[in-house]
Amino acid sequence: MRSKVIILGGGTAGLCLAISLRYFGIEVKVYEKRPQPGGAGAGIIIAPNALQALEPFGITDRIIQAGYGRDGIQTLTQKGKKIIKMSVQDGSYKLYSIHRGDLNNLLYEALPPSTVEYGKECVGINQDEHGVRIQFRDGSDATGDILVAADGIHSIVRKHLSNKNSYRFAGYTCWRGIVSSDSCTGLSEEFIETWGPQGRFGIIPLPNSQVYWYAMVNALENDDRFRSYTVTDLANHFEKYHDPIPSLLKSSHKMIHRDIVDIIPMDRFYSNRTLFIGDAAHAFTPNLGQGACQAIEDAVVAAECISRHTDYRQAFAEFDSRRRTKIETISKRSWMFGKITQLEHPMAIAVRNLLLQHTPKQMYQHGMHQLYKFQG
Ligand SMILES: Cc1cc2nc3c(=O)[nH]c(=O)nc-3n(C[C@H](O)[C@H](O)[C@H](O)COP(=O)(O)OP(=O)(O)OC[C@H]3O[C@@H](n4cnc5c(N)ncnc54)[C@H](O)[C@@H]3O)c2cc1C
Repeated sequence: MRSKVIILGGGTAGLCLAISLRYFGIEVKVYEKRPQPGGAGAGIIIAPNALQALEPFGITDRIIQAGYGRDGIQTLTQKGKKIIKMSVQDGSYKLYSIHRGDLNNLLYEALPPSTVEYGKECVGINQDEHGVRIQFRDGSDATGDILVAADGIHSIVRKHLSNKNSYRFAGYTCWRGIVSSDSCTGLSEEFIETWGPQGRFGIIPLPNSQVYWYAMVNALENDDRFRSYTVTDLANHFEKYHDPIPSLLKSSHKMIHRDIVDIIPMDRFYSNRTLFIGDAAHAFTPNLGQGACQAIEDAVVAAECISRHTDYRQAFAEFDSRRRTKIETISKRSWMFGKITQLEHPMAIAVRNLLLQHTPKQMYQHGMHQLYKFQG
């Protein structure tokens, strides 16, 4: 069947794009390789800019209802001493933590079920002056006027259409997990990130008495030692950190591990009839918590551009010019912020903490407020 717009990938970017295109009355079909909605994974924080972007579609209130809100992230030293609190602006939305599977379900439920086809893994793509066609592993295919590649950091579409290898290993590796808050004492109600010589550790409460945690440790790429780490190894690694970090790790059972890489934003976010959004176009290091939020901004702006122009070339060019500055700025800041937060040398850490503790709040808050504003 031929659709006007086909979207590859039913993650945050793909589902938000489908929701916003339907709002503008545009026929759309999403193809996703996972067998069903939802999915595993840990938690995620949705920031005010993404909530602003989603307002017209009735999604903002659903995220707020399903999430756990806080007005900022408190950073601490490994001994538990305050460094700085990075806060949202007074009067704006809070930051909302939510389980990734719940976010995906909530977006899926905002669409008629026939909009998304699951179990469709794309293995090939062709585009010419008449349209675009994608082939799936099961032998079927789909055709459309345009394709939006929202298939994430390992985008097969990007691999087919761009021969540039844009992956950059950030120099650290990451573990994430979810535990029941009943299994651990001494938890705070705040979002907390601890910076110390053994790495960074985040504790983010979720709704329904759950807590999402993450750890980032400097490493070599594909470091054998860390690849075989168990939860007990990680608990030993962070044993000198303030409570409740060691006990939280001791009460954890499962964790997800991956090296942190980003993708340098593509030189152009489109190729002929294909537009790239979200991680497929520009995966960031997760240091500013903006990957999914910018994927949402991309989706909303892409829908506006596609609905405004009858010529897809004009729509794609407008998307590129509206999104480029913010995406490139976040990519660079996130990379730099990661280097600062992953410092290991005690002297460098002491200087960083002192500088941050004495930086006037207005200076770093200005940057946060720019980040947390949806500019459309
Ligand atoms: C440790 C960590 C913490 C993070 N924390 C945050 C945070 O707090 N806040 C935030 O905003 N961002 C955060 N991010 C970033 C965020 O996870 C991503 O930026 C976001 O998920 C990107 O959404 P997406 O829809 O572009 O890609 P994805 O979520 O990866 O979705 C892509 C979809 O495409 C599907 N797909 C892939 N290949 C194919 C194929 N061949 N055929 C069909 N379907 C396919 C996949 O199954 C998937 O469903 C974090 C990232 C990491 C690594």
